[in-house]
Amino acid sequence: MNIFSEQYAQQMDQNDPLKKYRSQFKLDDPNLIYLDGNSLGALPTETPDKINDVIHNEWGNQLIRSWNQGWYTRSQEISAKIAKLIGAQPDEVIITDSTSVNLFKLAYGALKLQNEKTEIVSDELNFPSDIYLLQGLIEMFGNKHKLNLAKSTDGISVSMAELKNQINKNTALVTLSHVVFKSAFMYDMQKVTQLAHGHNALTLWDLSHAVGAVPLELNQWNADLAIGCTYKYLNGGPGSLAFLYVRKDLQEKLQQPIWGWFGEHNPFEFGLQYRPAEGIRKFLAGTPPMLSLSAIEPAVDILLNAKMKNIRTKSVEQINYFIDLFEQELAPLGYKLGTPKNAKKRGSHISLKHPEAYRICKALIDPNIESKVIIPDFREPDNIRFGITPLYTTYTEIYEAVKQLKNIIVKTYYLKFSDQKDDVT
Ligand SMILES: *Cc1c(COP(=O)(O)O)cnc(C)c1O
Repeated sequence: MNIFSEQYAQQMDQNDPLKKYRSQFKLDDPNLIYLDGNSLGALPTETPDKINDVIHNEWGNQLIRSWNQGWYTRSQEISAKIAKLIGAQPDEVIITDSTSVNLFKLAYGALKLQNEKTEIVSDELNFPSDIYLLQGLIEMFGNKHKLNLAKSTDGISVSMAELKNQINKNTALVTLSHVVFKSAFMYDMQKVTQLAHGHNALTLWDLSHAVGAVPLELNQWNADLAIGCTYKYLNGGPGSLAFLYVRKDLQEKLQQPIWGWFGEHNPFEFGLQYRPAEGIRKFLAGTPPMLSLSAIEPAVDILLNAKMKNIRTKSVEQINYFIDLFEQELAPLGYKLGTPKNAKKRGSHISLKHPEAYRICKALIDPNIESKVIIPDFREPDNIRFGITPLYTTYTEIYEAVKQLKNIIVKTYYLKFSDQKDDVT
């Protein structure tokens, strides 16, 4: 059977062992194909009820008593579930603040601990916020550090050889996104960590596009520090709290720059001299937002139930399918693959490049072009990014997306749109 046919895609969907999970997300618009999982994951159907209960019962009825009826420990309970998802111990992970703030806190701790070293390594494919935070830290530490960005020759990946060039005995910290936000290139965390440790450098991994998307074994891979986002593949809702991971033996050694009362040894003693808490709680600063925190749990439960191994199997298969369709139907129309073809080197999204990427995205989203609205992400300068979320992405949706990508060029629909950019792309 021709793989570029609705029947083929439907047959793949029928045989999909994860198909039952889609109904656990509120994706009930039959004309919408949502392929933006890695900027804002879809809403789990359980979340509104959960939040309603927190609002009406825990806040409305129980009021302040709720702090002793579950609120104070809720962060640790959900953190323990995220720990399971990333191959860490429950007392090595804590949900708090935003990804950006957590990167600041952990990178500060690492630079302070490695006080005598003066180089930081990241790469030029990293998320700009991560780079800005490092630049800010360098300024805070009195401009004694040099930031070395590993280069990418193809705009998609960074080689181990290039990292070897950048990491040396003067490297204090190596901080990278495990899965790169544009291209989906995925580092071998274990190998890079080994390389860094060979030069006594610490590693800090940004798991924003990896957690819930690929299996992670932070303990086994000997990772030192990590941070990650919960509104992408963890479906925690817009601007939901992030998490951080500090390997057990580093928790005592690492200093936290934000000395807030939630990270204090005993906040309710209200003493006037800060003493850091023991363990992972030290990395907290202030009161957790309970509404937002409670929304993180439903999708984490679904992921644990479905198992990352199964999710990965389907993700690899779906992206392979997307790439096969791309080669057959889209490559002849000026599209280029912006993602590694080798499944071992990529996460769970796929980028296509096209000189008209912005207008193509506009046409995909416009309800008047084809029968379905397709929501991808546009990423400067020429990337159309599709998040593949095996819990709810279907093969039929991938087929439909490729069909529209083809028609938008063949039938020149993209010419109907201006290339003036919106505020948020
Ligand atoms: C999404 C993302 C962030 C987001 O940071 P916020 O503080 O939540 O805005 C940071 N780093 C990477 C790599 C991301 O993909």
